[in-house]
Amino acid sequence: MVSSASEEPPRRREKRVVVIGGGVGGSLVAKSLQSFADVVLIDPKEYFEIPWASLRAMVEPSVAERSVIDHADYFMSGQIVCSAAVDIRDGKVLTADGSRFPFDYLVIATGHRDLVPRSRSERLIQYRAECGKIKSANSILIVGGGPTGVELAGEISVDFPDKKVTLVHRGSRLLEFIGAKASQKTLDWLTSRRVEVILEQSVDLTSVSDGTYQTSAGETLKADCHFLCTGKPIGSSWLRETILKESLDSRGRLMVDEQLRVRGHKNVFAIGDITDIPELKQGYLAQRHAEVTVKNLKLLMTGGRESKMATYKPGSAIALVSLGRKEAVAQFPLITVIGCLPGMIKSGDLFVGKTRKQLSLNP
Ligand SMILES: Cc1cc2nc3c(=O)[nH]c(=O)nc-3n(C[C@H](O)[C@H](O)[C@H](O)COP(=O)(O)OP(=O)(O)OC[C@H]3O[C@@H](n4cnc5c(N)ncnc54)[C@H](O)[C@@H]3O)c2cc1C
Repeated sequence: MVSSASEEPPRRREKRVVVIGGGVGGSLVAKSLQSFADVVLIDPKEYFEIPWASLRAMVEPSVAERSVIDHADYFMSGQIVCSAAVDIRDGKVLTADGSRFPFDYLVIATGHRDLVPRSRSERLIQYRAECGKIKSANSILIVGGGPTGVELAGEISVDFPDKKVTLVHRGSRLLEFIGAKASQKTLDWLTSRRVEVILEQSVDLTSVSDGTYQTSAGETLKADCHFLCTGKPIGSSWLRETILKESLDSRGRLMVDEQLRVRGHKNVFAIGDITDIPELKQGYLAQRHAEVTVKNLKLLMTGGRESKMATYKPGSAIALVSLGRKEAVAQFPLITVIGCLPGMIKSGDLFVGKTRKQLSLNP
């Protein structure tokens, strides 16, 4: 049920759980708790999107048919509120459309903020437009050398090898969120696919004229179009004026305890990229946080003792970045590898089938 009314709907069950953020972690919590509590899922968009399939969807828009999933498809028994949370006050969450949602338990999963369309159909149209832009360009500039920029460069260079791709990155190496070995291997891979990688420079996107771009070092680049792939801001700015402001660390992350409760708040949990857990910010870890939180909420809602709550141990530094349809670079705790072997793990279906299954959907 999608709702944006300002009146609270009648409650069916005793405990009310409000989940803020319908991304990787929040969608799983909402789906898993829907038959155990009155669950409200608050998200500014009507759909959950599998983030790691988004760059493939730019070169093959039909992928988005499976990776962009209406919340209503996996979350049938709760209430979906299509608005942004703006405050938490007096045991209620306030949303931008003026509604209030009381809770017994709150789960905050607002990961990263992204400016994407509200409806699934608009998002699918956007992917088709982006693909059209790629297809009609001879030369493409990618700004940003994190996972998004690297994966996009990989997709374009594999699917459209005749296009001239230039990737400009402000930092001294690509993929700075993982180790230097992975960066070097990725740089070599992209260069071997004729992607021009320019490090330690930025691009002034305000002064683009006639396909001419200026870099911070005064270089001139020519491209038919560009894609901005710089990091998205963490989705916690809205918490700065709430009762949780004291629980934010200096980087704007919510400090949580071992049970994933926000420090100082026994009935508020936080999961995913927004937490201060010392580990890489990865979706598979957000899913683990979701599983621990679901266990703990079920225990608390059935009167279980706090001492029996499940605890979470930070994950090890594993990351997989796809490089087109068959290859990838993978960082494991003791080894970094690139090529078809890690590609077999991720790059074919990009875990889309697996993620859909986790939401009890047809893969
Ligand atoms: C290109 C790329 C590739 C990646 N590849 C992988 C991979 O292969 N494997 C992997 O494990 N991880 C990968 N990741 C990382 C992964 O996507 C993130 O770690 C994961 O999305 C974090 O999940 P989350 O639930 O914390 O937040 P998100 O998935 O970012 O979801 C946040 C949700 O909160 C909503 N929101 C934001 N603000 C508000 C508000 N005020 N009120 C209500 N809702 C709000 C947003 O709309 C969104 O739905 C990749 C990331 C990128 C960018």
